[in-house]
Amino acid sequence: MEDGKVWDVLIIGGGPAGLSAALYAARALRSTLVLEAEMPGGQIATTGDVEDYPGIIHTTGPELSIMMQTHAEHFGATVEIGERVSNVDLNGETKIVQTESGKTYHARTVIVATGAAPRTLGVPGEDLLRGRGVSYCAVCDGPFFRDRHVAVAGGGDAAFDEGLYLTKYASKVTIIHRRDEFRAQKILVDRAKRNPKIDFILDTVIDRINGSDRLESILMRNVKTGVTETLELGGLFVYIGSEPNTSLFTSCITVDRAGFIDTDENMATECDGVFVAGDVRRNPLKQVVTAGADGSIAALTADKYLDLLEEGDTPDEAEAIATSKATWKTEY
Ligand code: NAP
Repeated sequence: MEDGKVWDVLIIGGGPAGLSAALYAARALRSTLVLEAEMPGGQIATTGDVEDYPGIIHTTGPELSIMMQTHAEHFGATVEIGERVSNVDLNGETKIVQTESGKTYHARTVIVATGAAPRTLGVPGEDLLRGRGVSYCAVCDGPFFRDRHVAVAGGGDAAFDEGLYLTKYASKVTIIHRRDEFRAQKILVDRAKRNPKIDFILDTVIDRINGSDRLESILMRNVKTGVTETLELGGLFVYIGSEPNTSLFTSCITVDRAGFIDTDENMATECDGVFVAGDVRRNPLKQVVTAGADGSIAALTADKYLDLLEEGDTPDEAEAIATSKATWKTEY
């Protein structure tokens, strides 16, 4: 199914990066489409409390996601939810994007804001018990674990944020981490240590998840002593980082060994008219605020690229000039 329209800016992914890009592209008066496979907000939609987005002392991930979608739509962006991109051809001047539902879209620029998906432990029992006690989303599933003992695997910001969130429901939250030092911010670690519902099992990995129909227990191993122990649990929340969603783009864009896309400071790639924003990009900090910043830069580089195409430059020339915009702006 094709509608014949050629969008100025087509954004793949409706998380903070994609929705910020949509806001900026729409405010630059570009026809702007966002395709989001699941729900607005991406990973932030599955996050409980958000208290590090400037100007908002406290909100929840789902609330912030809806506000971002509404904001982009208010300025004219179209956001299509439930459209999972299955195929792209980004090499030509007109980009072609197809979705699993059989729709084909055309655009003059594409912003890849596909984010990342939760990493799994990869241990026996995990696939079988996913959705039956094993979860990757505290916001979605936390309320099912009221007054139960749950564990969180991981030692980063997400494990601590979501562990703290789960104390609203669970009777006890055990954070299981493979080292004795945490990657998470100190403010979160201190808060968790002060929370009477939270305890820690350190230097420990999970080797197996047990249960026939529902999660019953996990088999843990202390990596320093080799001692194994079984822990009975109502739920296990896995927060051990994420993998970038880049597999669709590797024919046109180079990714690093971990799968992240390398861009320049303008969010440009080696593929003319294709820009990248958010967690899918190799960057030193993955936060809502950095994803939003990436999105705004990607949209404005796309806008500049389109201006240059409209002035008669070839895609190659437009890309080269648009991506040296910082220099160009200071010169004139
Ligand atoms: P992360 O920072 O990469 O942390 C992943 C954690 O999981 C690390 O503690 C790591 O252990 C552990 N881990 C990785 N693979 C493992 C495995 N196979 N088995 C057991 N443990 C494993 O990931 P994240 O916490 O999802 O955060 C991702 C990004 O989002 C970060 O930049 C983070 O700052 C950001 N974020 C920010 C907030 C916030 O500011 N409120 C909230 C959520 C996420 P090691 O430490 O031993 O490597």
